[in-house]
Amino acid sequence: MSGFRVGFGYDVHQLAEGRKFVLGGIEIPFGKGPLAHSDGDVLIHAICDALLGAAGLGDIGLHFPDTSSDFKDIDSKVLLAKVRKLIEARGYSIGNIDSTVSLERPKLRPHIDTMREVLATILGMETSALSIKATTTEKLGFVGREEGIAAQAVVLITSL
Ligand code: MG
Repeated sequence: MSGFRVGFGYDVHQLAEGRKFVLGGIEIPFGKGPLAHSDGDVLIHAICDALLGAAGLGDIGLHFPDTSSDFKDIDSKVLLAKVRKLIEARGYSIGNIDSTVSLERPKLRPHIDTMREVLATILGMETSALSIKATTTEKLGFVGREEGIAAQAVVLITSL
């Protein structure tokens, strides 16, 4: 099979006091962090789901079930590397990724280029092809109340 395929991913985690704030493969100093079976990296989870979706390979919960002790507190960068292998095994390579993280705090701007470099390195792609954007929700909803964090990602994958 040849051509272009797109995929979409979405993830949410609750924010809890005393958890590490892990996002985009890095830890950012903050008073609370995502509550999850893994490290709760919503951005990586959304990108994993977008990649798996594009390749028709299901979703992150199918490959890395949160009922499995193998994935307890796992660094989501490990999951991303595994997803890259799954995609490549099917003959796909990644064209580009675009993503948006929704949260009120902390401000992501100072960290975004580091996240892009970390994730692009794991995925073996140019940093310029991996976009990460951030938005607040103007204090509306669970993100606005700082109860949770959300991320959405779209990807293009190609096969020759
Ligand atoms: Mg998740």
